[in-house]
Amino acid sequence: MGRILIRDAEVVLTVDPADRVLTQCSVLVEDTRIAALGPTAVIEDRYRGVVLDEVIDGRNRLVMPGFVDAHLHLSEQLSRGVFPDTLATRPWVFNWAKPVYAAMGPDDEYVATLLAGIEMIKTGTTCCLDMGAQNDVGNTVRALEEVGIRAVTGRHAADRLPEVLPPHWTTEMIERHFFPNADAALAELERAVRTYNNAAGGRIRVWVNIEGKEPCSPELHAAAPALAARLGVGTTYHIASSLEEALVSERKTGKWPVTRLKEWGALRDNLVLAHVVAVRDEEIGFLAEAGTKVAFCPGTSLKLAKGATRIGKYPEMLAAGITVSLGCDGASAAGSLDMMRQMYLAAGLFKDARMDASLIGAVTALRMATIDGARALLWDDQIGSIEVGKRADLILLNLDDCDWVPYTDPVQTLVYSAGAHCVHTVLIDGRVVMRDRRVLTVDEREVYALAREHARRVIDRSGVCAGRTPLVSTAYD
Ligand SMILES: [Zn+2]
Repeated sequence: MGRILIRDAEVVLTVDPADRVLTQCSVLVEDTRIAALGPTAVIEDRYRGVVLDEVIDGRNRLVMPGFVDAHLHLSEQLSRGVFPDTLATRPWVFNWAKPVYAAMGPDDEYVATLLAGIEMIKTGTTCCLDMGAQNDVGNTVRALEEVGIRAVTGRHAADRLPEVLPPHWTTEMIERHFFPNADAALAELERAVRTYNNAAGGRIRVWVNIEGKEPCSPELHAAAPALAARLGVGTTYHIASSLEEALVSERKTGKWPVTRLKEWGALRDNLVLAHVVAVRDEEIGFLAEAGTKVAFCPGTSLKLAKGATRIGKYPEMLAAGITVSLGCDGASAAGSLDMMRQMYLAAGLFKDARMDASLIGAVTALRMATIDGARALLWDDQIGSIEVGKRADLILLNLDDCDWVPYTDPVQTLVYSAGAHCVHTVLIDGRVVMRDRRVLTVDEREVYALAREHARRVIDRSGVCAGRTPLVSTAYD
């Protein structure tokens, strides 16, 4: 059994139920788990004479649980900065993102996942919920395994075409990206779970993930959480991701999206809904009652003009007891996989928009980025906080840097002042995957070179092109 001692950390943010902040403490990792946490002298006494495989110097370091990104598209990693930044959600999805997703072959997804894994590790994320692969999820699983990160992934599914096909939606694209009906999608989703769930010694889980909203039928929205429950896993999809989506739903059915999910019997406690920006007061009650989780993606809201602060009700969701986690969404949708940015935005956006400094703030934002993400991923019994017995998914931040000198309240400093460059060392499942900002599991330079090549090919194949691909969409209207 491997033993790693993180010796004499200056600060430990446990994010445990009491939000304990400890100083001058040591953490002992045995194999994949946190075996002990306590004052340095106590831990040294208790483990004197025990053979250690590694001692990590904790002086000038803050130790905390790794971030949990509750909404992410690994496949999007090769399309960074390709689309114009003047797009709203619907043209962004239908005219630009879908052709690019559909142009991803198995090798492209493998490379995109390695690249995303590197960005996550370097910004302190140790676990993510990926919306799923466009191809057999085995390629994604293999890359996740190699890069050493913890993740939930799946086979991305959609089953409903618009009446008029948007630009670049070729027959080949449609065949790759859409299943002919809900049953065909569900059969493949089940196969993905049965084949790959609990890969890499349980570090990689596979869920029944679908895209959600217009590209999925009502049957698929309802059947995905039911199938997930039968398989003992979770599911996730997008819903109420823009006001336009809600207004189209209202015009066609008289109801908003979350209300329709309730009527279809889709709301369950194994479901994570991404965005949920267009939501009505009574719908918050439906989500709370069902125990359905929400992944708020503030970075995407800012870039795609979703209106999180104008129409979003995230503070009300938190007050209703809903688990509201944070997601980076994607390298294209939000621009970055840096959870520290999301945490900062979550802490401050609603203070400003509503001129109420008591809203959300640093302590809640930290929980949203860690333990609440773990809860959304149905993994909070194992990760999301530093507690004895939990898996050792830990990050060490360098406090000997300008953003930490001086600091008094470490949580405030983390949320409002620190940048991801202070993420110094990362452990996932008890294994050191980054030391002194050097990723140890894969060759960064090699992955960057591969990623540049694959990105060029994917964008070429997709057909999207600035100046030619339209900036507005009426798909599914
Ligand atoms: Zn998304």
